[in-house]
Amino acid sequence: MPVPLYVESGNGAHMRDIDGNTYLDLAMGFGSLILGHRPPEVLAAMRAQLEKGWHLILPGEAQCELAELLVEASPCAETVVFQNSGTEATMCAMRVARAFTGKTRIGVFGGGYHGTHDYALVQEDPKSTPGSLQAKTAGAGVPDIVRDTTMLALPYRDPAALELIRKHRDELAAIIIQPVQNTTPHLDNKVYLQSLRELCDECGVLLIFDEVVTGFRIAYGGGQELYGVTPDLVAYGKIIGGGTAVGALCGRREIMDLFARPGSRGVFAGGTFNGNPLTMAAGVATLRALRERRRDLYPALMRRGERLAEAVRAHAEQNEMAVTLMHAASIQCFHFKAGPIESYRDAQPANRAAEEAFYALVLDRGILLPSFHVYFLSAAHNDAVVENVAAAFIEALDDCRADGLL
Ligand SMILES: *Cc1c(COP(=O)(O)O)cnc(C)c1O
Repeated sequence: MPVPLYVESGNGAHMRDIDGNTYLDLAMGFGSLILGHRPPEVLAAMRAQLEKGWHLILPGEAQCELAELLVEASPCAETVVFQNSGTEATMCAMRVARAFTGKTRIGVFGGGYHGTHDYALVQEDPKSTPGSLQAKTAGAGVPDIVRDTTMLALPYRDPAALELIRKHRDELAAIIIQPVQNTTPHLDNKVYLQSLRELCDECGVLLIFDEVVTGFRIAYGGGQELYGVTPDLVAYGKIIGGGTAVGALCGRREIMDLFARPGSRGVFAGGTFNGNPLTMAAGVATLRALRERRRDLYPALMRRGERLAEAVRAHAEQNEMAVTLMHAASIQCFHFKAGPIESYRDAQPANRAAEEAFYALVLDRGILLPSFHVYFLSAAHNDAVVENVAAAFIEALDDCRADGLL
């Protein structure tokens, strides 16, 4: 198989490269394509919109309908502001939280991902003692002042985070959390999220859910529906654009109204392509299809995700392989070390040699895993596809074993 790959097209669960090779795609637009590549209803909606123009600046029917679909699905959403990426949605969430509370720090959980703006690139330093206010940046170029004054690192799925929030309540505008993290996905987060909700209310700290991945994926109503926990603000992206560039911030009216205030009393949000009709059309067609199919689709994604993870788990256990396939329904991630893995701190160090070999061996079998290792199932990954993936994963693990890597 040629590496790097240059892609020509996608259809259903598959992609084709420019040399004509076909791959089973497990990247699925980094989780955006929950209906598979070019599902007919989304294709038709985008084609119809192309005929009418694709950059019209003023809102149209689709924008109103997408906002209505979000408000209906998302318990905390009374108002919606559209952006072009999940990055912009979390950026606007942090900005409006600071404006609303008059406080500066944002609590961010270790192992989380919230996009690529400066505030999202400040992370817990895994070498620091928890609660030390010592952060690091993901890469160069983020000013030290951002790193040192704007965030509070919190340990994920750890009760110690609650103490830290209480202690720093007077500086904390909000905490932002993914109901399920990407690279160390766990499904059993209900009690933890509930306790964060109660504590945030008590401390006057806003609770922001980053549902850029989990929204319309772990349930139609995302983590809010699955766990019955309602944040103050929620950031969306990925699925709600049907595979086009999108972001949306939703939340309580009282907070979101700050975006509508004029001038210096208001919070700025805007952009050249926000709410563009092509994205809105693709998003509406996607959410309509998901809403219609929700009763069958979400249980099927859950069942297939579990089936795949269980097949790998059983094989690894039988053969005493130090590999853990973490999964929360259709969000899955391999770690080349023995479990259990509670959080990203436990995920290090891993067997990098086995990991690299595994991804190459899987690619040799015609399966494309994304470069950052978390992968996603879609509606196009039916039972037969999942069985094939399970068989390929197991063969690749056996090959790693035969090469002395595992
Ligand atoms: C992808 C992602 C983002 C950023 O979205 P972009 O559209 O890539 O900017 C934010 N949060 C989470 C959890 C994501 O997975």
